[in-house]
Amino acid sequence: MRIDLHTHSTASDGTGAPARVVAEAAAAGLDVVALTDHDTTAGWAEATEAAHEHGIALVRGTEVSARAHGISIHLLSYLQDPTHPALTVELDRTRDARLSRARAIVDLLSVDVPITWDDVLAHSRDAVVVGRPHIADALVALGIVPDRDTAFLHLLSAAGPYHVPHYAPDGPDAVRAIRVAGGVPVFAHPGADARGRIVPDRVFDRLAAAGLGGLEVDHRDHSPAQRERLTAIADRLGLFVTGSSDYHGTGKANRLGENVTTPEVLAAIEEQGATEVVRP
Ligand code: AMP
Ligand code: FE
Ligand code: FE
Ligand code: ZN
Repeated sequence: MRIDLHTHSTASDGTGAPARVVAEAAAAGLDVVALTDHDTTAGWAEATEAAHEHGIALVRGTEVSARAHGISIHLLSYLQDPTHPALTVELDRTRDARLSRARAIVDLLSVDVPITWDDVLAHSRDAVVVGRPHIADALVALGIVPDRDTAFLHLLSAAGPYHVPHYAPDGPDAVRAIRVAGGVPVFAHPGADARGRIVPDRVFDRLAAAGLGGLEVDHRDHSPAQRERLTAIADRLGLFVTGSSDYHGTGKANRLGENVTTPEVLAAIEEQGATEVVRP
């Protein structure tokens, strides 16, 4: 069984439509794929139809933006009730904040580079969630940078002069909202220290006390030392561990199935979640 529990589509900052991500997952030989767009469930319906068509199991989820210790963190929510207001109210608020924040970043950038909001709109047409990758795509199209990765090195870096943060719920509040909505919360790439600041150990205790279910340990942004640290934290707090690709289509080097989750952990997630895994 090959199970990849973290992918993105054009509903957020992936480059393939939801149906395409599911088709690619089936073609890559995966048995189970999760669609986990940032702060939205907008891709679920299309992905569900595609899962039936391509004979692959689908876990419907969302990668929820949150903050902890002044740091932006991501919490994967699996199998939640997509209509439950406990979570939809927070996601609505985050998406609104992301939009004004993206405009603010473009305002700052436009002082130094020739980019307009229309350029970004042209690259986020299908997205219900606007993120820095869409601004990166506009910068690439304008010939200012060669690819998304280069855009993130300086112009879009969280440590750079054009960065603007956006509202996101406090980590433990987000974990509780996910649980109230019937979702299973998993801390995404918690040890990705090359991409930005990571949270100290005590944040894991707080998230676990709020109801966190697991940690995404096997992820390409984790060094062997981080995987060891996170495995020990998961053991100490009684959390399960997952592995995933964090596939973004052509927007990142991550390949489908490059990290996988065990069937036992998927069974635990399914047991705790409010909605069903879509089975072929
Ligand atoms: P935002 O959600 O607007 O704060 O932008 C962060 C998102 O950009 C992350 O969720 C990643 O999907 C993406 N990202 C971060 N770093 C890179 C990079 N170096 N290359 C491509 N995408 C990136
Ligand atoms: Fe992303
Ligand atoms: Fe993430
Ligand atoms: Zn992700």
